[in-house]
Amino acid sequence: MTTVLNFIDGRFEQPASGQFLDDLEPATGRPCARLPDGDARDVEAAVAAAERALPEWSRTPAERRSAILLRIADLIEADLEAFARAESIDTGKPLTLARTLDIPRAVANFRFFATAVLHFASDAHITDDLALNYTVRDPRGVAGLIAPWNLPLYLLTWKIAPALAAGCTAVAKPSELTPLTAHRLCEVCRNAGLPPGVLNVVHGVGPKAGAAIAAHPRIATISFTGGTATGAAISAAAAPHFKKLSLELGGKNPNLVFADADMDRAVSTSLRAAYSNQGQICLCGSRLFVERPRYAEFVERFVERTKRLRVGDPLEPDTDQGALISAAHREKVRGFVELARREGARILCGGRPADPPVPRCRDGFFFEPTVVVDVPAGCAILREEVFGPVVTVTPFEGEDEAVALANGVDYGLSASVWTDCLPRAHSVARRLQAGTVWINCWLLRDLRVPFGGMKHSGVGREGGWEALRFFTEPKNVCVKVSKG
Ligand code: NAD
Repeated sequence: MTTVLNFIDGRFEQPASGQFLDDLEPATGRPCARLPDGDARDVEAAVAAAERALPEWSRTPAERRSAILLRIADLIEADLEAFARAESIDTGKPLTLARTLDIPRAVANFRFFATAVLHFASDAHITDDLALNYTVRDPRGVAGLIAPWNLPLYLLTWKIAPALAAGCTAVAKPSELTPLTAHRLCEVCRNAGLPPGVLNVVHGVGPKAGAAIAAHPRIATISFTGGTATGAAISAAAAPHFKKLSLELGGKNPNLVFADADMDRAVSTSLRAAYSNQGQICLCGSRLFVERPRYAEFVERFVERTKRLRVGDPLEPDTDQGALISAAHREKVRGFVELARREGARILCGGRPADPPVPRCRDGFFFEPTVVVDVPAGCAILREEVFGPVVTVTPFEGEDEAVALANGVDYGLSASVWTDCLPRAHSVARRLQAGTVWINCWLLRDLRVPFGGMKHSGVGREGGWEALRFFTEPKNVCVKVSKG
């Protein structure tokens, strides 16, 4: 069984507490590793190491930082299969998904920011013929990076790569449920020649290790991805220190299918949007709305396709749906479906824990892909993030009702719109309260675009220049050029 350790100042370290936590494999329910029960003492040591490394790393020429980050990308890619297997075991996601999405994206994150920083330029503003203003952007110092369990390496590297590219040093905390690929990443960083202390990783639970990062007086910048309630706790801890925060939080994303849409594509992609990673992606389209004339047809085709999804051992190549992250999370998902059923909704398929696909997975946390219809307005399953393989399907009449239903929740992360009418696509996109709107597609990502949420889905934007701006502090220098 793997023992994960903290990574501080370029060395693997035992936690100050001497205590370890079990890391369970969701597909079997059995421990696959143990990880440090890190706390404020480990965070303090990590911050001290990051502070020592900061002066040299922040002054290292961008070309040199870029070269090291590109080497990290190459080493992850060279070890892709081992990374993918670790991610699948740790999360319960199909190995094929980890191999084609999670790990390639981690490689892309490093390559993208390693090259982006070479093109990061300053602004200059000429004030008539009186003055020249130029803006310098310096790294903000030690950054705290806190990531969730659903896309562990993908999201952790989405923060580490821009922070390091911008010249910051970092204290990162992966989710306590999925520490394996972060541990491998530390080995890769060492082998790639990343100087000690530039990246430090502290493992442990949110209320101890995570809270210590959020409240640490010498971490002035925090990038967090996770649940909305945790985002609120981090904001409260950070407020007295006036920290700069980027919060990427939960979603309850609408998927609007108009009657003129290409139904084959709408059904296929909506299926992927609903169930990828067992519905445990913040961007999953869990609220389906279909225009009345095509509602019955859509539901019939969607349910038929849902029933064909294979729930299986994540390590098997023909598995579509792996396990949910934990027994507690599966209970939460089941609770939402049960409540909807009691309140009068109809479950057209799924709705309960799935039978173990193979003996090895006897105690795994599997759940059947589930379609819920006729949900009474106001039901929790329509408003709250379920974060599982569960979708609701609701009919609508016309554009205004579609937009009102889509916007009628506290979240505003992403939305999809299916229509062959171009003017409608643009007009609906403008009216939707979401940080990202996909027209006739889903999860088509360009790493240059601003990414983030509105309302309770977050504050700030990541990706492209937004990320490099986030990890740097602008300072304007105004030079008077005229004698008058
Ligand atoms: P979570 O909020 O429980 O945990 C996220 C991270 O925060 C973990 O590392 C955890 O240990 C840490 N943490 C928990 N309590 C903390 C505290 N008080 N102080 C500091 N850190 C703390 O979220 P999760 O269950 O790991 O992830 C699922 C959630 O993440 C879902 O809501 C999902 O929508 C969201 N998510 C959002 C995005 C996005 O880009 N908007 C992407 C992926 C996931």
